[in-house]
Amino acid sequence: MTGIYVHIPYCVRKCAYCDFCSVPRDDTMGAYPAALSREIELSRDRLPYEGPVPSIFFGGGTPTVLSAEALSGVLDTIRRTYDLLPEAEISIECNPGMADFQKLKRLREAGFNRLSLGLQATENSLLQSIGRIHTFEQFLSTYQAAREAGFHNINVDLMHGLPGQTQQMYLKSLETVCDLEPEHISAYALILEEGTPLYEQVQMGRTILPDEDAVADMEDAGMAYLTWRGFERYEVSNFAKPGYACRHNLSYWDHAPYLGFGVAAHSSAKGKGEWLRWSNTESIPSYIKKLQKDKLPRQETLHIDKKEEAFEVVMLGLRKVAGIPKNAFIDRFGLTMEQAFPEAYVEIQCHGWWADTDTHYRLTPKGMDYLNTALCYFR
Ligand code: SF4
Repeated sequence: MTGIYVHIPYCVRKCAYCDFCSVPRDDTMGAYPAALSREIELSRDRLPYEGPVPSIFFGGGTPTVLSAEALSGVLDTIRRTYDLLPEAEISIECNPGMADFQKLKRLREAGFNRLSLGLQATENSLLQSIGRIHTFEQFLSTYQAAREAGFHNINVDLMHGLPGQTQQMYLKSLETVCDLEPEHISAYALILEEGTPLYEQVQMGRTILPDEDAVADMEDAGMAYLTWRGFERYEVSNFAKPGYACRHNLSYWDHAPYLGFGVAAHSSAKGKGEWLRWSNTESIPSYIKKLQKDKLPRQETLHIDKKEEAFEVVMLGLRKVAGIPKNAFIDRFGLTMEQAFPEAYVEIQCHGWWADTDTHYRLTPKGMDYLNTALCYFR
């Protein structure tokens, strides 16, 4: 099975912390959906693909800056070109205030069945401090409209470690959102990326972020709170009501193949006897121009050897609370983890970070807190 990711690189304006491939809306937007559809069609016979498709994810950027018709048109092209599982999960990201009831209803009718709303915090002062374009009140009205439009699977993104944010404020955000009863919450720590306006502000001392210990405490308190409210943590930063884990993201962490369409999109799949990763050009005009000439907009292809592939499986799989099925690892590489990475295995054992299970390679909660350190042992 192969998942599909579709990248829409436009936003109303850039958030202060963002280093994703996104640009403020511009006049390339009109030609972009047709270019996307052309890439999807051209790829069918030129890229490695093992059907059917279990999940599709429209991310960005802010996909809903495009019209419902443009988005539905791209989804229709995928349906015409690839075989979708009848119960495929079809997600779309949306920022609060970027889709009203009519638009959400059209998206739902087109087949989108999971909505991911980027809220980040419930205090408007915090939203302003990181340059979000919306208020909490706009989020509420988009959330309610989405429910009325028939979205029964909604994710809300929340962040901690924001400028001036206290643990109490973070827990209040979680409480307010939990009271709305979404099916899924992604709870990420802010990552300060070099080159972003927020990074500059912090360097110049104009903005102060909570220190590392305060962020770790927020994270622990948030996890405990979400568990208490009936959410299961299934990945480092992702929490779901039973049965609502994001299938698309789980397939990334399972190192399953996926095709990425759109500017700067990445793909990962098995080629002839080896694993491949490739990416598209990051220039929107060049992406559109190439597709108008029926050329695939590929920028770079990496050939992944078995050792690197095993590292990727470990790096992604240990993010999941369930970990990596031992049988799947042995079937794929012909070795146990102990044999493939003897030193790393022992280091983690010495720290007491392996959870005791016969069926999975899985980290304890403490081990997950130290995931980056643990992964360094595999390098
Ligand atoms: S909405 Fe998302 S992609 Fe767009 S600028 Fe903000 S963080 Fe970046």
